[in-house]
Amino acid sequence: MRKSYLLTPGPTPLPPQVRAAMARPIIHHRTPQFQAVLKEVGEGLKYVFQTSGDVYILTSSGTGAMETAVINLLSPGDTALTVHGGKFGERWTELCKAYGITAEVINVEWGKAVDPQEIAKKLKANPKIKAVFTTLCETSTGVTNDIAAIADVVKKTDAVLVVDAISGLGAIDLKTDSWGVDVCVSGSQKGLMLPPGLAFISVSAKAWGLVNAAKSPRYYFDLRTAKKAWESTDTPFTPALTLVIALNEALKMMREDGLENIFIRHKKMADATRAAMKALGLELFAPTAASDVVTAVKVPAGLEGEKLVKTMRDKYGVVIAGGQAELKGKVFRIAHMGFIEEFDIIAGISCLEKVLSQMGYKFELGKGVKAAEEVFLK
Ligand SMILES: *Cc1c(COP(=O)(O)O)cnc(C)c1O
Repeated sequence: MRKSYLLTPGPTPLPPQVRAAMARPIIHHRTPQFQAVLKEVGEGLKYVFQTSGDVYILTSSGTGAMETAVINLLSPGDTALTVHGGKFGERWTELCKAYGITAEVINVEWGKAVDPQEIAKKLKANPKIKAVFTTLCETSTGVTNDIAAIADVVKKTDAVLVVDAISGLGAIDLKTDSWGVDVCVSGSQKGLMLPPGLAFISVSAKAWGLVNAAKSPRYYFDLRTAKKAWESTDTPFTPALTLVIALNEALKMMREDGLENIFIRHKKMADATRAAMKALGLELFAPTAASDVVTAVKVPAGLEGEKLVKTMRDKYGVVIAGGQAELKGKVFRIAHMGFIEEFDIIAGISCLEKVLSQMGYKFELGKGVKAAEEVFLK
């Protein structure tokens, strides 16, 4: 028997209310019973997205909502601007390529945030760019981009701004309407505290203009169909209704806590994690734009990063994430997103100290935990 601690940037742990909701008997989705849930969920999503517009629910992982954005906004031959700097920024380019859309790329060094002025320059140099695809939290590097500043740049042009907020929505601030984010996409298994399987997308009036004109092939992910169904509180196809019912519970919890308090809690957990890493003599991978939902840490020289993550998981049940793609073995990532509290963080840091010590890394035992506790005591 072993207790397990999930500190990964998706999936994240599930609150008991969410798990209990999924154990209820299944109901039919074209019923007043489910419609009542959809109505509540619709309101809850608007609250979390900070938008007055409708947020559409898709049955897919988060990437399904990213694909929905690309094919509904653009046509083959169109030009888009994408921002690299991690695995998820690159996904926008791959999606564009799959549909014959030209992606102009801004290459950002991994671990850094994009400079909004770079986006301004590109938009000025190429007025054909119809959409700018960005990422709120680049989960692979632990960077949060300045979406408010990017939106300020994009809203002065004819282009629309699309934000992948799959990681970060409901955990760090993203003001869809007041910042001017045209399309915001998210997924269920990160800040929203659900299992994987649902994706979400909001669409501004400016973006609807493109949706109605786009010529990319689309069927399952056609936003026009989703909109039509949503007008009668319905979905075009069978939704993952068990997850939607669970989402209703998660959204109720979030409304009770209040977004502001949720953001403060995440910032505190991130501050504590960062303080602990520094106290252990470890280096953050993204010191200048560190995200409040996941902390990426450089593996100290001479240590095997993959082994560190594996030992914590298999020997002690504390699950953190390793590095992805070019960062494999070079960083480890501790998530502090969703249904995570200070003592989960303490447990994670404590286990990290134990395994680092066993691997021969030299530091004063307990120093990381102490630094985190000091942040939590403030
Ligand atoms: C997790 C994640 C995704 C991918 O979501 P899937 O649900 O695996 O499709 C995309 N973007 C970011 C920033 C993520 O963190």
